[in-house]
Amino acid sequence: MTNKKKNPYKSQKAVIQEIKRETQGIKTFVLKPEEEFSFHCGQFAELMVPEIGEAPFAMSSPCYRPKLLEFTIQNVGFMTSRLHKMKEGDVLGLRGPYGNGFPLDDYNGKEILLLVGGVGFPPARALLYSLIKEKSKYPRISMCYGARSPEDIVYKYQIDDLKKEIDFHITVDKAESNWKGHVGVVTTLLDKIKINLKNTLAVVIGPPIMMKFGTLKLLEVGFRPRDIYLSMERKMYCGIGQCRHCLIDHYFICKDGPVFKYEMLKNLPDIWE
Ligand SMILES: Cc1cc2nc3c(=O)[nH]c(=O)nc-3n(C[C@H](O)[C@H](O)[C@H](O)COP(=O)(O)OP(=O)(O)OC[C@H]3O[C@@H](n4cnc5c(N)ncnc54)[C@H](O)[C@@H]3O)c2cc1C
Repeated sequence: MTNKKKNPYKSQKAVIQEIKRETQGIKTFVLKPEEEFSFHCGQFAELMVPEIGEAPFAMSSPCYRPKLLEFTIQNVGFMTSRLHKMKEGDVLGLRGPYGNGFPLDDYNGKEILLLVGGVGFPPARALLYSLIKEKSKYPRISMCYGARSPEDIVYKYQIDDLKKEIDFHITVDKAESNWKGHVGVVTTLLDKIKINLKNTLAVVIGPPIMMKFGTLKLLEVGFRPRDIYLSMERKMYCGIGQCRHCLIDHYFICKDGPVFKYEMLKNLPDIWE
C-alpha cells in the first residue's frame, strides 16, 4: 500500500473560455476547469500563469455552477499584467478552493447589507448569487456599491437585473456632469438607506481604506462588532497556511478567513494595512 500524500500545490488545468472587459484595468475571465471545481461563496483560488507565477483571486461566479468559473481581475502588477495579456483558449493553472467563505447558515433569517468598494465586487457577486437563489431566507438584501468613477464600475451589464432582485445603491467618488447618480464615497450611501439594526448583518468587502472607514461608519450607525463580517485581503502566496505572508496577528487569512467577524479582529493591531 502506498502512503503518498496529495501535493497541495498541484493545480489542474483551466481553459479561458471567454474574456469580458469590465473597465480599463479590469477583466472577467470565464474558465472551464478540467474537473468540477466545487466551492463555497467567498472562498478563493490560486490561479497560475504558466512560467510566470500564481496569485489568489475570489470566484465571482455562482458556487452552484462548478463547471464554469468566473474571476474578475484588476491589472495591478507582475502576474496580473501577464494574465491580462492572455487570450481565449489559453490555459491557466487552478488550485483550491481555499478559505472559509461566507457563513450562510448565520445569515438565515437576517437582513443582509453588503457594503462594497471597487474590486471587492467579485466575492460580493458570488455571495449575491447565493443569497438571491434562496431569497425567501433573507427578509431584505441590500447592497451599497462604490466605484472611483463611472468608468470604474464593474458588471455594468448586470446592474439593472440586480436592482430588480435586491435593494441596490451605487455611488462614485467623482464624475463628469453626465453621471446622474449619487456622488460621494460609499459610506455616504448609508445615510440614505433604511437599516433595521435589530435584524441586519453587514458584510464589508473592498480595498483596505474603504474597509476601515466602512466598518467605522457601520459602528457609528449602531452595528455591533459581531454583526459585521469582513472579507479580508493581504499579500498572499501559498494559500494553504505555509508561507505566513497573510497573517493578521495569529489568524491566517488563507485558512481562518478570508471572512472574519469584526468582533474577532477589532482588538488586533494593523488590521487595515
Ligand atoms: C483572498 C484574496 C482574494 C482576492 N481576490 C481578488 C479578486 O477577486 N480580484 C482581484 O483583482 N484581486 C484579488 N485579490 C488581489 C490579488 O491577489 C492581487 O492583486 C494579486 O496577487 C497581484 O498580483 P501581481 O503579481 O499582479 O501584483 P504584484 O506585482 O505582486 O504587486 C502589485 C501591487 O499590488 C499589491 N498587492 C498584491 N497583492 C495584494 C493584495 N492581496 N492586497 C493588496 N495589495 C496587493 C502589491 O503590494 C503591489 O503594490 C485577492 C487577494 C486575496 C488575498
